[in-house]
Amino acid sequence: MSIYARWNVAPVINATGTVTRLGGAIMSPRVVEAMSVAARESVSLEALHAAASARIAEIVGTEAALVTSGASAALTLGTAAILAGRNVARMQRLPRGAGAAKFLVARDQRNGYDHAVRLAGARLVEVGYDERTSGAGVRGVEAQDFADAMNPERVAGVFYVQRSDGRPPLAEVVNVAHRHFRSVLVDAAAELPPKRNLRDIPATGADLVCFSGGKVIGGPQGTGILCGHGELVASAALQMLDMDDHPELWSPPEAFIPLARHHGMPRHGLGRGFKVSKEQIIGLLVALEEFLERDLVAEAQARRDWLNTLAERLRSSRYRVEMLESEHEEVAPTLALHVGSRAAAFECCRRLRAGDPPVYVGHARLADGVLLINASCLREEQLQPLGEALSLL
Ligand SMILES: *Cc1c(COP(=O)(O)O)cnc(C)c1O
Repeated sequence: MSIYARWNVAPVINATGTVTRLGGAIMSPRVVEAMSVAARESVSLEALHAAASARIAEIVGTEAALVTSGASAALTLGTAAILAGRNVARMQRLPRGAGAAKFLVARDQRNGYDHAVRLAGARLVEVGYDERTSGAGVRGVEAQDFADAMNPERVAGVFYVQRSDGRPPLAEVVNVAHRHFRSVLVDAAAELPPKRNLRDIPATGADLVCFSGGKVIGGPQGTGILCGHGELVASAALQMLDMDDHPELWSPPEAFIPLARHHGMPRHGLGRGFKVSKEQIIGLLVALEEFLERDLVAEAQARRDWLNTLAERLRSSRYRVEMLESEHEEVAPTLALHVGSRAAAFECCRRLRAGDPPVYVGHARLADGVLLINASCLREEQLQPLGEALSLL
């Protein structure tokens, strides 16, 4: 019996993917075991954070890294780091009184995670025009739009949401920002796989990059990574850690938080509520090392095989199925089920969610009358009940 059933909660068939609202990735036995062992001893969180920083930084190729409570928290802490830098008095005042507190963002990159940036006290200023979406022309936001808006007295940095086909490309935006001595904070939460993005995105020179730990990396759902410039990562760490120690006794690992560079010891910062536990840090480290070794091409092929089995089963249903291949071989395909209209797609979703067991499918294309089947969080024994639920639609 499922442990969730003890509290009268039905586990679901997740054909959506590693989304937070369904609990993110399924963790491997090695990750779960490491967390369980880690939970049984006490440890200095600062020392553990410093060790994790060094290891993750080595993996992603940056000066430093911080395990955060998710990519969204990493965005807030990254913003706070850019706003306060080494200035302890500023850390204490955030989210108010940050001085130059504006972040530039491409107009077509605005999204719900904006809130994570605004939470630290930054104001978002949109730049450029998205003439393709509005139908008014052929141009989108361009690097020059950032340059034109780069008023150094008012602008603290740039918030950039990474996509493989994002325009203008991150490297161009970094270039413009650095010409004006401003920092770039990148949301790359879900940009894995491909695996190489772990290094390639930071290698653009972006000052801070955020990844989600609980998506394809397969770490604890409540973890993320903030990586980049050492001084900014130290600022983010200072604004997250528990600061209730005597200044005379406090001695964080020098390589992680260089004390001589900070004037004084801040009190609990803006990120104190974003704590990560020792078990989560260990879980993320083990998951990340496992992620490096995983054969993502083989995993994608295994998922393709499952989806083919499912497609075979649905061939006699009244709906057309279509395999949607991704552009990268490490990214598994998804199966599209064409159910007709938007209204039919919503009705199918409702019926699937109300089923026993409840089934959640990808809902990004319901407006086109399409249900998406993503196999990344499925278990093999769920293929049969999933096929049955779908064939009954
Ligand atoms: C998932 C996601 C986030 C949030 O990541 P968490 O680790 O759940 O906090 C932020 N931005 C984008 C684009 C995402 O896809």
